[in-house]
Amino acid sequence: MFTRCFNYLCKLVGSRDNNNNITNLTNLINNKECIKLRAIDMTNKKKNSKKNLLKFKLARKIMELRTNSNVPSDIKNQEEKSPHERFRDSKTLFVTDFSSFAWCELQQHYSLIAGGRKETLAMKNGSEIHKNLESQEHVIVQIPTYTREDSWGIKLYNLIFGIDSLFTNYKTRELPIFGFVSDLFVFGIIDQVEMKPVFDDISGDELLIISDTNISRDELIISDTKTRTKPYIPKKAPPSVKFQLMLYKKLFDELVQGTIDDEKIFQTLDLNPDLEFSNELANIIKISCKESEIKELNLRNLMKVVINRFRKVWKTSNVLEVNYKLQKDESDLGSIYFDYNENQLENYLKKTIKYWKGDRKPEGVPIEDAWKCQNCDFADNCEWRLNKIKECEQKKRAFKEITNGQH
Ligand code: SF4
Repeated sequence: MFTRCFNYLCKLVGSRDNNNNITNLTNLINNKECIKLRAIDMTNKKKNSKKNLLKFKLARKIMELRTNSNVPSDIKNQEEKSPHERFRDSKTLFVTDFSSFAWCELQQHYSLIAGGRKETLAMKNGSEIHKNLESQEHVIVQIPTYTREDSWGIKLYNLIFGIDSLFTNYKTRELPIFGFVSDLFVFGIIDQVEMKPVFDDISGDELLIISDTNISRDELIISDTKTRTKPYIPKKAPPSVKFQLMLYKKLFDELVQGTIDDEKIFQTLDLNPDLEFSNELANIIKISCKESEIKELNLRNLMKVVINRFRKVWKTSNVLEVNYKLQKDESDLGSIYFDYNENQLENYLKKTIKYWKGDRKPEGVPIEDAWKCQNCDFADNCEWRLNKIKECEQKKRAFKEITNGQH
């Protein structure tokens, strides 16, 4: 049924103000289907691809000239900027912009210069599995976007109705989340939040007796889905995944606390909160939200609905989950659970913020993690690795000279 609806609605996209479109969406909403919107960017596609090409050419030049001292001034100017200005236009950082540094900071830095990492087959298969899992929970409706405000409107819509589907389906997938880390705006998409009952003081056979009186509260469990080619789960979750999940929890809980500064968000992202959404998005919001909830269809009002929705939920569980699926058949391999550690996260974030603000250089891996360099795309030109090799050779030479002198 989901696939049928999806295909049908995809065909409808593109026809502006289509009455059928609205009727079908209304039916879906009345049937309590959980709708997720996906943006189709209609703005200046040609210009965008040209800009990307230039970015790629520049990145390649930087990589080629990295060992050459005659670096042209435009590249030097790029290198003088902080990574936040240079790679993210001083606007949105993603949760993975923090978590991926746990593997190797320098590798992440080189990938940013090169304009992203090559998509491997495993990565492609992984994102297919994510799409399948999402379409099991939500009907995906594609909506054309004509402004940056439209695109953010879609993110807020998905957040609002993601929270609603937690109460109707006890689960939501691909939930957008955002907030500030220090003064940097961060955005991410949580793979899954699930509402699970917690049973107090129950053991053994008592677990079989489930009644309302057993339920003390529902826990909101954040989890991330990882796919594997091997049919077993790793012994422990990698640090990058742990930091990713811990940061999701921090952002979610801060929205629950209601400390969100919407004006600061609009200013940071250079968005006009009073600009009306385009017809397609405005129509779907109109039929999805209660009239009393939103009057003028713009970011300012949609953000108010977000703030109200977060008043209904509570902080997420301290236990975080990494769930593993087998790539071959999408079967469940099991999960690893771990505890949220605030101190560990804060120290990690402090260190990573210094990189993004340009207050320190990225570091390569310590010698005990040198195995990571074996499969690194940047190994041939990595200054860190080349310096380490030089240092080792110098030490070997010095050791030889000492031992030769002794004989
Ligand atoms: S070669 Fe090693 S140190 Fe250099 S970027 Fe790759 S993983 Fe990091």
